[in-house]
Amino acid sequence: MRQSLVVGNWKMNGSIEANRSLIEGIKQNITSVKNSEMAVCPPFVYLHQIRELLKDTSISWGSQNVSQRDSGAFTGEIAISMLVDFGCKYVIVGHSERRSLYGESDELVAEKFAKVQSAGLIPILCVGELLEEREAGNTETVVKRQLDAVLNLQGIASLEKSVIAYEPVWAIGTGKTATPQQAQDVHAFIRGQISALDAEVANKVQILYGGSVNGSNAKELFTMSDIDGGLIGGASLKAEDFLAIGQAG
Ligand code: PEP
Repeated sequence: MRQSLVVGNWKMNGSIEANRSLIEGIKQNITSVKNSEMAVCPPFVYLHQIRELLKDTSISWGSQNVSQRDSGAFTGEIAISMLVDFGCKYVIVGHSERRSLYGESDELVAEKFAKVQSAGLIPILCVGELLEEREAGNTETVVKRQLDAVLNLQGIASLEKSVIAYEPVWAIGTGKTATPQQAQDVHAFIRGQISALDAEVANKVQILYGGSVNGSNAKELFTMSDIDGGLIGGASLKAEDFLAIGQAG
């Protein structure tokens, strides 16, 4: 049985005071979450604060991105060693906003995935199609291409120590959630692709759904057999909503 995982992607939101109050709210009722591991991914500059607030709790933390390089003259970038310093467990790679707004290619995302694993952290690999790709019937082709870039660089065994997040781009931040069946179909496709190479890895890897998940729709999504939790944007910024999603796991 795969453990349910619910990860909050705060994106470029937060402040010292807002973070403190959000984390206090989550901690206050964390015992109501019985079956999900909970994690938050704040902006880099708040990792120190979040580590302090979350130490001695069951809640994990991670980052939203990382450089593919180790150190040096790369202004504005953050190295994986720095994320290790701040106790990150997870690193999101290939979020659709990084792919579309910052031009991250499948190959670059695969390099970042490799960098995260080389430091012993767990990459959360985001994959997902644009609306026009879905409408053209290309969802599986796109998701397979994004997954294959990682498989080609790192091999199938690497997926065992990773998390995959299927996030249809048209559902992110739009309030338009994929139906449980639409999501399940793509999750089953992803697991099937992995299973064709290694059934054991396919059985173990957590595949999260992301795209306008909230406290009201999480249960329906998470009961689908290949959905192992969620990557949550907007609803992770409210303690009550984030906890309700965790309770659905
Ligand atoms: C996300 O950014 O990964 C996401 C799923 O956002 P939202 O939940 O706001 O759609």
